[in-house]
Amino acid sequence: MAWFAAPFLLGSVSSLLFIVPTLLPGLWSLRLGALFMTLAYGAGWQALRVMLGCRPRILVLLFACSASFMLSMLAGPTGLMHVISTTFRLTIIAAFHGFAALDLKRNVRIMTSARCSLLRLLCIYAGFHLLLVPFVLWMPAPFGAAPATVWAVTSYNFLVVIEVALFALAMIAIPWEQLAFQQQELILQDPLSGGSNRRAFQAWLDNDGTTCTHEALLMVDIDHFKSINDAHGHAVGDQIITAMGRVCADILYPPTILFRIGGDEFVVVFQCDGPDEMLATAQRLRNAFATETRMIGGGAVKATLSIGAALCPGTGIPRTELLARADSALYAAKQTGRDRVVHFPWGEEAPVPAPAGKEAGNS
Ligand code: GH3
Ligand code: MG
Repeated sequence: MAWFAAPFLLGSVSSLLFIVPTLLPGLWSLRLGALFMTLAYGAGWQALRVMLGCRPRILVLLFACSASFMLSMLAGPTGLMHVISTTFRLTIIAAFHGFAALDLKRNVRIMTSARCSLLRLLCIYAGFHLLLVPFVLWMPAPFGAAPATVWAVTSYNFLVVIEVALFALAMIAIPWEQLAFQQQELILQDPLSGGSNRRAFQAWLDNDGTTCTHEALLMVDIDHFKSINDAHGHAVGDQIITAMGRVCADILYPPTILFRIGGDEFVVVFQCDGPDEMLATAQRLRNAFATETRMIGGGAVKATLSIGAALCPGTGIPRTELLARADSALYAAKQTGRDRVVHFPWGEEAPVPAPAGKEAGNS
């Protein structure tokens, strides 16, 4: 809260000193006004860092502002030192905006609209202050080092007010956007497996009716899961579902998607080069799951997977068709004894068992 309040408090002190330059003797009101102005911009950058979850850069802020203040102490109302001091101040303000823009770009997972607007605002103000530097001799204060004029003071104040208002709006909007984004993620996530849930699966099916050329789909079901629950309790059952998510995360690489579409039913979608690679990946998943769950419930549980596999043919087809084929293959896997992978290739009339034991990673 202190960092959020700081730019506004410092900016207010700066305005007061600029508006009533007679408040302090000589040039002190203007010098301190400029110091508080640079501090206000620097504090705005720190507030943004804090909002992004980064540590504030207090030393950089204090060093830059004190250097600017010292230069202003050496400068008179005109002359070379005054020009140097003004140039330095403009550069620092541009740098604070630039650093803030860089932090914003680096530290976010998703560029939401409020973040994009804030990034644009920071870049525009950084560019504007840098653009003033070559004209510092001719521009009236506070834009440059020439004597202040009414239009310069008025338009500079106008720009500051616009920036403060937009910055404040963005700082209010960004946490809300973040919250909405986190909630959106939670709505689509399955808490036990860590994969996506049925709602996300439906969206994935509806989103784009066709599959990609190399998309493989595995329908996965835990064998006799009800008996495992009955024999060892639901807590053990939950651990097995969690293990499924862990195994997928360990052996399947992004952009693989895991959906938990029912109690013990999963869909795994990944890209692969052909049926051999798909079936080898499915066998690897089956074996890794059996190994991972061996120690659950004190080693008394024997959990296995039945997997139905289908691979998209050369051209894109509706995802629902791919799903239906994998579902038929899973049904066949259950019918023929469970703990196995069955494939339903295009051109075949019925599902065929996959050769056991061949393993490879998906890519
Ligand atoms: P099959 O080999 O034919 O698949 O038999 P199954 O027992 O696995 O199939 P069934 O569909 O009869 O049982 C699924 C069970 O999954 C029933 C339900 O108790 C259990 N289940 C569903 N959701 C959860 C959950 O979140 N946690 C736990 N522990 N069990 C769940
Ligand atoms: Mg089952």
